[in-house]
Amino acid sequence: MKTKEKKEQSSPPLGRIWQNFCFSLCLLLGVLTSCETEEFLYQSRFPANNLPSTRQTFFEPKEFFAYTDSTLKAVVSALNRVDKEKHFTASFLLKYGIPLWNFTYKSIEKEETCLFVPLYRLDKPRSINALWLLRIKDGQLTYFPLKRDDELMEENDQSFVFDLLSYMVFGEENAQGLVFKPHAETRGTITVTKCWDVYTGPKGHLEYSYTNCIKHTYWVEDAFLVYNWNNNEEGGSGNIELGGGGGSGGSGSSPSTLAGDIFKKEADQDSTLWLITENMIKRIREDCLGDDLYNQLKEKFKDNKINLEFDFGKGYSYNFIDSTLHVGLEELESNKLLHEMFHVLQTTQESTSSFQKAMMNREIEAHYAQYLYLQRSAEWTEKNKKKYSDSQRLRATVSLKKYINELGNVTVSKPEELEFFKFYLSYNIVSSFQQEGYKDYPFEKYPDISNIFPTIKSVTKNCK
Ligand SMILES: [Zn+2]
Repeated sequence: MKTKEKKEQSSPPLGRIWQNFCFSLCLLLGVLTSCETEEFLYQSRFPANNLPSTRQTFFEPKEFFAYTDSTLKAVVSALNRVDKEKHFTASFLLKYGIPLWNFTYKSIEKEETCLFVPLYRLDKPRSINALWLLRIKDGQLTYFPLKRDDELMEENDQSFVFDLLSYMVFGEENAQGLVFKPHAETRGTITVTKCWDVYTGPKGHLEYSYTNCIKHTYWVEDAFLVYNWNNNEEGGSGNIELGGGGGSGGSGSSPSTLAGDIFKKEADQDSTLWLITENMIKRIREDCLGDDLYNQLKEKFKDNKINLEFDFGKGYSYNFIDSTLHVGLEELESNKLLHEMFHVLQTTQESTSSFQKAMMNREIEAHYAQYLYLQRSAEWTEKNKKKYSDSQRLRATVSLKKYINELGNVTVSKPEELEFFKFYLSYNIVSSFQQEGYKDYPFEKYPDISNIFPTIKSVTKNCK
């Protein structure tokens, strides 16, 4: 499958939420109530900000329009002009409180700026229960005050905004005793576009009609997107561009990179997917079993590299006929890649026919290798733990550790234990696999039950 791909690193979710919040509030209020709106040109742009790292100390302002942040000048003086005409500040003060301009939270998107100005009242100490929302878009300023107990706010469960502002103003002294810490973002997204050429006409005389594309967006762990070139890493002739549009995709001759040493880099393969592959390989190589597996493949495929294809969906597979490893875009996880790489190595250790006769055996071994790697890796997440406990096949895989250690050695030795293990493997384990996706995989009775995972042994011979 050919995949063209355009990477769009996501903005931090917080910014997104706020923008939506701002936008939806403006829409809602525009419909439900008659907002006080004024139109005028707004030109200056605000610098982006986030949760302030150093908090200013709170002091009650003496004047309604008192501010020191110069980026607020245009907005404040515009509102000041409105007040000169309409004299709204006195009643506003009583109802909502005094604006704490210097604690304004700014949310800046491409075309829209939202300002959340906390409104403070003496009778509500250490708590912000009202805010002034100012939205600037297309040179227009829309503004309206909001209270924590407004029906609209309660209905939409928006107390978070007030809590955050309370924290920004009063720090840990805020009345609710809440502490806000910026959430470390560990994921990003990639967008992949798959295109189909559509043909019409009778069989044999098909004519090209049109091309249609569908976009899919996938979450990817940031760890796979951020790659630091190490100077002591071999090769590394250039930088990997993150997201930079219009990359030509390479000239076909892959530079020496980790992934490029075992996989063929297709000319049309987008650099982001390649980058993700690089990072998966990097993670695999941090593991002793993974590193040896990688090195063996690198040696075996140095003249004729493995094809790599990215498919929609979750499925991974290795087609040993055309030596193509398929990666499922919906689950970009290095443990799944390792599983297929393990199959690749298996196929190099025996003839195709002997591999085909014992595909169930090879599958069990690859599953166990994947599990050994996974539970040592950063990918051993709650989600994956749950997956392993929910699936009969994966539970069976895990149960093997009672009999086989991390080096692939069988740990039971008494004849009756070995006999039991043989029985357990041939019936319980095999039937778990048959019931979950591996129905027709041929199983070959193990000639020597104490040596059932030769490939794991071979890739862990240097591990302790
Ligand atoms: Zn498999």
